[in-house]
Amino acid sequence: MHKLRRISGDPTSYLTRIIGSKNGPRGGRLSAMLGRISMRYAVLNGAYTRTGIGGIKVSTWNDGQKEDLLHCYESTAAELVNLKNSIINRQIEEIRDICPYCGIGGHGQFDHYMPKAKFPEFSVHSYNLVPCCDKCNGLKGEAWLQTNGARTFINFYIDSLPAAPMLDVQVQWVVKNGKRVPKVSFHLARPTGFRTESFALIESHFRKLNLLDRYKNQAHTEFLALRDAALGRKAKTVETLRKFLENYLEQRAKTLGPLNWRIALYSKLMEHRPFLQDCL
Ligand SMILES: [Zn+2]
Repeated sequence: MHKLRRISGDPTSYLTRIIGSKNGPRGGRLSAMLGRISMRYAVLNGAYTRTGIGGIKVSTWNDGQKEDLLHCYESTAAELVNLKNSIINRQIEEIRDICPYCGIGGHGQFDHYMPKAKFPEFSVHSYNLVPCCDKCNGLKGEAWLQTNGARTFINFYIDSLPAAPMLDVQVQWVVKNGKRVPKVSFHLARPTGFRTESFALIESHFRKLNLLDRYKNQAHTEFLALRDAALGRKAKTVETLRKFLENYLEQRAKTLGPLNWRIALYSKLMEHRPFLQDCL
């Protein structure tokens, strides 16, 4: 998982262009609502700078207004495509295709961090759009707040993340079909110095998106990828191979970041001498 960059420019300008591109009665109705929507945008923009978005209350819109507001996102207007492209292109190139919520899949969808069913006025607000994978988007649903009012999911535009790894990986080796393969499990561990309250949000995020199990289910594929990279080196000794893999991991960590689950898994696999011996 990794932080997201917000696109530059006032989110209202994208809204104005999207509404301006609409013809007919819907365009007229949305233009008439623009002042009210802009006031809501000001509330959200302010909350984002204070990281206090959990306290934003829903606003009352009638069914017709809701439909018009949601249509801003559901249409295929060029201005909406432009907004989505701007969000994606603003991200770091090497990781822009990775879902920030899980770090596993690519992004094929946009999640509305604040659910658009509850906050239709933010359906095309650039801060509220998170490029993510369909699995995360489906699991996240509309449960953005917990019963105690705390947020459920990490907001990668604003929330602080640990600087140090927070995934503890356990590996046991078993032999299948004559080959040594790992049985892997992942656990969350709060890095020293990272605030307990902030970590509670991360724990909730992991729980709701079922991330530990999803990493476990992907672990064998990643093990094979690392083994293939190691075998391709055709190293003669464990020490030579270890040095190669250390450099490889260092490069991958620069690209994926220290919090990525693949980095945690690779680091753990490399600690096991029998794994290195199998790759000679
Ligand atoms: Zn995802």
